[in-house]
Amino acid sequence: MDAEMLTEVGDQLVDAFAADGRAAGDVDADIVAAIGGAVRLRAVTDHLLAVLAAQAERVGVAKRSGMTTRELLVANGMAPVAADRCLRVGRAVDALASLYRYSSNGFLSGEHVDAVVRGVAHVSTRTKQPVGSEAITTVESTLVGRAISGASPAELMALARAAAIATAPDDDGIPAAEDATLNEMGWRQGDDGRLQGSFDLDVLTGERLICAVDTASRPRPLPDGTPDPRSAGRRRADAFGQLLECAARAAADDAAVRAPRTEVVVTVPVADRSTARLGWLGSISDRAATLAGCDAGITRVDLDQHGVPTAISATRRLFTGAVRKAIIVRDQCCVKCGAPASWADCHHIIHHADGGPTILDNGCLLCRSCHTAVHHQGWEVILGHDRHPWLIPPATLDPRRQPQPAHNRRTMRLDPHVVGAAA
Ligand SMILES: [Zn+2]
Ligand SMILES: [Zn+2]
Repeated sequence: MDAEMLTEVGDQLVDAFAADGRAAGDVDADIVAAIGGAVRLRAVTDHLLAVLAAQAERVGVAKRSGMTTRELLVANGMAPVAADRCLRVGRAVDALASLYRYSSNGFLSGEHVDAVVRGVAHVSTRTKQPVGSEAITTVESTLVGRAISGASPAELMALARAAAIATAPDDDGIPAAEDATLNEMGWRQGDDGRLQGSFDLDVLTGERLICAVDTASRPRPLPDGTPDPRSAGRRRADAFGQLLECAARAAADDAAVRAPRTEVVVTVPVADRSTARLGWLGSISDRAATLAGCDAGITRVDLDQHGVPTAISATRRLFTGAVRKAIIVRDQCCVKCGAPASWADCHHIIHHADGGPTILDNGCLLCRSCHTAVHHQGWEVILGHDRHPWLIPPATLDPRRQPQPAHNRRTMRLDPHVVGAAA
């Protein structure tokens, strides 16, 4: 199809509702039909471009002119983001029969097709099942079905992440979304002296950031009642500055300034812990939900079969008051790395989700990154006969899994009689 043909089809669509002197209802219907036709035309064009780009890549068209296929697409007027999407879809869509059908007839938009491609790739990577296997084909049909029934591309990705978590083998380590060891934050000073930065965070840290900034960035009407004139981006930046200020003053023990109360909400169905969800960022694995629930407030909400709450318990904060103080007196700092107690979570040695009680003998101090290592990377905590926590490294670090004393007792010699059965 050349550009002239496309223009012609476009003109026909416009002509369809250009006639004068007809009833408004008829014209409306024509306009809606024409919009539908134009959207479909765009979807077919996107599909065609993706197939052509993949074909060009296979036969080496771009290489012969000394560039990549992406550069070839951009040189022909495509925006770089669109070129990336086009190549991603083109490389994958051949192997996805059901998606191909709805992509080639223009039934699904390029954005939806791309979301299905990325969703399938994500589940395939996480579950180590190849594209074409039964499990992945099932995921593909589910995503295509949801796309047809109106799910947005973002909802399709959320669905794919949930499917990956539900089907990934349990010994598979941490999903990238929950791996705090990949976290990064960087900044540089711009030419005008301003600081510009970027971050890349695991889903729990990300959820905390969004919750904290969201609480402090709600619009504040001016005294005369006119709406807050600040843009959403500006309000978030102001809120971030406010949070830093609160942290600084809290360290100085200035009781007049209290940090905004923020709450990360994790929803964990009692019947199926593998479908836990964060309020902002969606599905998380059972392990991440257990980590989030280790030092938290727990509210039980019973639902009827239509999802309407029928009973709500008071929120019970775990490890508060005297028990928390007792743990701080005993452990003094993070038992694994020695970070200050004020940075540390109280970890349930036997998980709260598994019925572990919130008592001195079942708690220990762990800073956030050591806490993640205990829940995700195979470190174990046990309570020794000395009623102090001991750490057992994962077999990958120490094949003999020799218990190590808590950080504040590192000068002690290892005494095998002291360790042993957990309380
Ligand atoms: Zn630590
Ligand atoms: Zn924990």
